[in-house]
Amino acid sequence: MPVIRHLYTQQTNKNMSDCCSGSHSKPTKQPCPQCGSACKHVEMRTLYHQVQFPENQGVPLDTYYFCSTKECPTGYFSITGNSVPKQHLKMRQEIQKDTLCYCFDIDAADYLTALRINNAEAIKNFVMQRTKSGQCACELRNPSGQCCLTKFKHLERYNLNVLTEN
Ligand SMILES: [Zn+2]
Repeated sequence: MPVIRHLYTQQTNKNMSDCCSGSHSKPTKQPCPQCGSACKHVEMRTLYHQVQFPENQGVPLDTYYFCSTKECPTGYFSITGNSVPKQHLKMRQEIQKDTLCYCFDIDAADYLTALRINNAEAIKNFVMQRTKSGQCACELRNPSGQCCLTKFKHLERYNLNVLTEN
């Protein structure tokens, strides 16, 4: 078992415009009890923003992690055994359609299409500019609480791999 060296540090009062700056430390990961994928920590307020009523009423305060595997029924879980299924999340449909950016409603298919017709730069620049000027809210709108910009990069790499394989 590798020792987790990046211990999560509490940063609850940070400015919203900092949320995509990439300057904050990496949160601790935990394996999903259902699918085993490595899951990142989420803030309690992210979870409360994401869980629908009335199920949100029954979620106890705990340290939660988000499972981003879309086929996995687990949404949030804690190491003490609390969990919230994906079907209780407001964004369950967005998760299923591989939404990249929850602030500006861009899904993976939209961005792949844009990459293929050379419109991806414009879309990414829009997101980056709005993010820099503080109009994004990834920490609440994204079920993972994470900034979406790394997902854009993953998809660019995926698209390149597909192109070079063909
Ligand atoms: Zn899972």
